[in-house]
Amino acid sequence: MLRELLLQMLRPLSAEAKTGFGNSAVIGGLDGWMRDKIEQALRAIECDEVASEAESRLTRLYQLWTNYETDDSNERRKTVAQTQRLIEELQPLANRPSKASPRPEAPPAPTTQLAPTTPIEYSNSPTEPEMSQLHTDENQPPASNSKPPAAPCALDTDLTYLKGIGPKRAETLRKIGLETVYDLLYYFPFRYEDRRVVKPISQVEPGTKDSVCATVLFAPQTRKMGNNRNLTRVRVGDSSGRIDLQWWNQPFREKQFPVGTQLFLYGKISEFGGTLQMDAPEFEIMGADDNGFQVGRIVPIYPLTEGMFQTAIRKAIFGALERCAEAVEDPIPSSTRSHFDLPELAWSLRQIHFPDDLEQKESARLRLVFEELFLLQVALAQKKIAAHSEEIGIRHLVPDEEIKGFLTKLPFKLTGAQKRVMNEIRRDLKSPRPMNRLLHGDVGSGKTIVAAYALWTAFAIGNQGALLAPTEILAEQHYSTLHRVLEPLGVHVVLLEGSLRAAQKRRVQADIAEGRANVVIGTHAIIQEAIEFHKLSICVVDEQHRFGVMQRAALAQKGANGLRPDVLVMTATPIPRTMALTVYGDLDVSVLDELPPGRQPIKTVQIKPQSRERAYKIIRKEVENGRQAFVVCPLVEESEALAHLQAATVLAETLRHNELHDLRVGLIHGQMDVNERDDQMELFRAGMRDVLVSTTVIEVGVDVPNATVMLVEDAERFGLSQLHQLRGRVGRGQFPSTCILLGNPKTDEGRARLSVMTKTQDGFEIAEHDLNLRGPGEFYGTRQSGLPDFRLANIIRDVDIIARAREAAFELVSADPHLEWDEHRVLKDALHRFWGDKLDLIRVS
Ligand code: ADP
Ligand code: MG
Repeated sequence: MLRELLLQMLRPLSAEAKTGFGNSAVIGGLDGWMRDKIEQALRAIECDEVASEAESRLTRLYQLWTNYETDDSNERRKTVAQTQRLIEELQPLANRPSKASPRPEAPPAPTTQLAPTTPIEYSNSPTEPEMSQLHTDENQPPASNSKPPAAPCALDTDLTYLKGIGPKRAETLRKIGLETVYDLLYYFPFRYEDRRVVKPISQVEPGTKDSVCATVLFAPQTRKMGNNRNLTRVRVGDSSGRIDLQWWNQPFREKQFPVGTQLFLYGKISEFGGTLQMDAPEFEIMGADDNGFQVGRIVPIYPLTEGMFQTAIRKAIFGALERCAEAVEDPIPSSTRSHFDLPELAWSLRQIHFPDDLEQKESARLRLVFEELFLLQVALAQKKIAAHSEEIGIRHLVPDEEIKGFLTKLPFKLTGAQKRVMNEIRRDLKSPRPMNRLLHGDVGSGKTIVAAYALWTAFAIGNQGALLAPTEILAEQHYSTLHRVLEPLGVHVVLLEGSLRAAQKRRVQADIAEGRANVVIGTHAIIQEAIEFHKLSICVVDEQHRFGVMQRAALAQKGANGLRPDVLVMTATPIPRTMALTVYGDLDVSVLDELPPGRQPIKTVQIKPQSRERAYKIIRKEVENGRQAFVVCPLVEESEALAHLQAATVLAETLRHNELHDLRVGLIHGQMDVNERDDQMELFRAGMRDVLVSTTVIEVGVDVPNATVMLVEDAERFGLSQLHQLRGRVGRGQFPSTCILLGNPKTDEGRARLSVMTKTQDGFEIAEHDLNLRGPGEFYGTRQSGLPDFRLANIIRDVDIIARAREAAFELVSADPHLEWDEHRVLKDALHRFWGDKLDLIRVS
C-alpha cells in the first residue's frame, strides 16, 4: 500500500520539473494532490516496524508541500528534489517484508527535522519521543489479522506474539534485555506519576501538568506559521470550559480527532491570549480497546534506553498484563505465601505496574521483593545444605596434643576471639564436610595467625595448604610472616609468584606437585594457572572482596583425591547483616571482634594541601621518636597506571630533596622488580628507611608495627574502605598513631567520606557509610560476587524481607533439597529463569 502510494507520488514529479515548476503536473494543483497522497500514506502505515521512520519522513514531506503554492520556482525546485530524495528513503521501508526480522541498519528517524524550534514539553522523561512516533501503534486499528490468535500465555513466550509488538519494537525491547513475556512483566517502573486527579477544565492551572477529560468540539485545524512551520490545533471542552490541544508540524493529527471524540488528556497547561492550551499532550481515546494505561491513573515511569519510549513500553506491559498476568504461575509455594500473608502474583504484577493506589503498589512491591530474595535464598540454601550433607570434604584429624604444641610455639598469646575462631575452624576441619567459612576481622585484628593455624593443620596430616593473596606484595608479606612462624615447626613454605624467573618457577612448581612444599603462598593466579598440587586440602583466601564465586569454583576442583579442599575466606571488610544474608549467604561466618592487646587509637586529621607543612612536621616528629611513616600517592585511573607510578616516583624524589631531605625516604610500587620491591620492604621493615612512599600497592595487609604515620595524598579520591585499609597500616604496635588525610574535596560525597574517616575508626560503621554512599552494587562488587542483579530488592532497605525469605527458603530446601515435589515445580523453573547459567556455578562453588 505504502509502496504503491510512493510510486504514485513519484510519477508527476518529473512532469512538474518539465513544466518549470508551475504546480500544474496534476489538474487542480500538484501541492494539494501531494498532500492528499501523503495523508493517505500516513494512514496506510500500520506495520509498526516501519511506522516511526516512515512517519517522520512522511510528516516532513507533508511540510514541504504546505507552502508550495506561494513559493517561487526556485523554492519549488528544491521541494521537488527533496521530495524525490525522501521518497527514495521511504521506499526501502515500504518494500520491507512486513513482520520479518528487523533491519539492524535501520537509521534513526530524523526527528531533528521534525523538532519545532519552540520547545515542547512531552513529559518528564528526557528521552520522551515525538508523539508522532507512537501514534501508529496507539491509534491505528490493531493489526489483529497479522497476529496469531490469543493462546495461553507462557512466561517464555516471545514478545512478538503480543499485540502491538512487531519485530522493530521487539528489537528495541531486546536492547534493554526484554525478550519474553517474563522479562516484560518483571521490568519494573522506577517511579510513578499520579495522574488520577482529572480536573474540570475550569480548574487546570497554567504552568502545571494536569489530566482532563474532554470532547473534541471543532474539526482540527492546521495553520501555517512563520519559519515554514505549521500548528495543528484541536479545540476540546468539557462542561466547565475549553482548551486547545496543539501540535507543531504534525498535521496528521487532524485525522485523529474527529468532532465528538472523547479524550483523556495529560499534559502541560499554558495560557496564551486568554486561551488555555495543552502542548502535545499524552492522550487516550475513550472507548478504544486499549485505553486506561496512561491517563487518569497512577502511571508507571520505566527506565528507558534510546529508541524506547514511555508510551510504547507502557502499552507493551499493559498488553502483556492483560493477556498473560493470570496465566503466570506463582513460584512461591502456596504454603509459604499464606504463611507470610503474601498477595497473589498476578495481582502484584498488575499493581506494581499500574497501581490502583500507592498502598496497593507498596504491598505488591514487598511481595515481589520477597519473591526475588526468596529465589536468591533458595539457591543459597541448596548450596549450603548440599555442602553440609555431602561428605566430599577432607577430614583433618589432628591429635589435641599436637595442636596444643603448635599453639605454645606462637610468638604471642592469642586473643579470646582468636581462640574462639580457631575452635570453630578446628571443628570444620575435622568434619568430612568441606569447610566454607568466612572470617571477618577488622584490620589489625590478627587474622594471619588464624590462617597460619589452618595451613599448619593441612601439614599436620601430611597434606598441603595454600594461601591466596590479592596482590603480590601481600603474598610476599604473608610469605615472610608464615615462613617465620611455620618453618621452625618443620613446615616447608614456598612463595609462587608470576614474577619468578622461569627456572625458579619450575622448581617451585615441582616442589608443589611432588609434595615437598607443604604450604604455598601466592596470588589468585595459583588456582587459575595450571598448578598441580600433590595433596591440597586447605585453602585460605585473604581479602574476600576480590575473590568471587568463580574463583571459589576453580578452587573446588583442586582438592586432594578429587575431594573438596576446606576453604577459609578472610576479609577485613565488615559484613553488614544484609551482606551476611546475601552475598555470603552460603558461608558460615566467624568474627574476630577483639583487637590484640595494647593497641592505641589512631588519630585521624584532615589537612588542606596548602598546609602540607603541618603534615611533614608530624612525620618528622614521629621519626625523631624512632617511628616510621607511610606516604601514599593519589589514586589514578587504571589507564593512568604509568602516571600513578610516576607520581610516586616524583613525590619520593621531591621529598628526598626538599621537605624531608634529612630523612631516609624509600619508594615502593607495583611495577617494581620483585627483588627490588622485597629489598625496599625489608629496608623499611628493618627500620633502615624512615618514610616509605608508595602507590596503593600497600593498601591491604602490610604489617609494620613501628610505622605510626599514614599520610594519604589526595585522600578525597579514595573510597571509604580503601581509606580504612590504608589507615589500618598504622596503629598496629604499642605506639599511638596518626592518619593524615591530605585533600581538598570538591564534592559532597568526597567531603562526607573524609568526615566519616575523622569521626570513626570502627570498620563496621565505615562499611555502613560506604554502603550508603556507594550503593549496594558498587559496595558488594556484584559483578564479581556472581550474584544476579536485583530488579526490585534493595539489600539495604529490605533487610527484614531478606531474613524472612531466607527462613522460608531454608525450611523449604531442607524438606525438598532438589525441589522434586510437585508443588515446587514452578519454583524450580523460576530459579533457572532468575539465575540463568549462574545457577550451576553457585551450586558447585
Ligand atoms: P590482620 O587481621 O589485619 O591481617 P594481622 O594478622 O596482620 O592482622 O595482625 C596485625 C598485627 O597484630 C601483627 O603485627 C600481628 O603479629 C599482631 N598480632 C596478631 N595477633 C596478636 C596477639 N594475639 N597478640 C599480639 N599481637 C598480635
Ligand atoms: Mg591481613
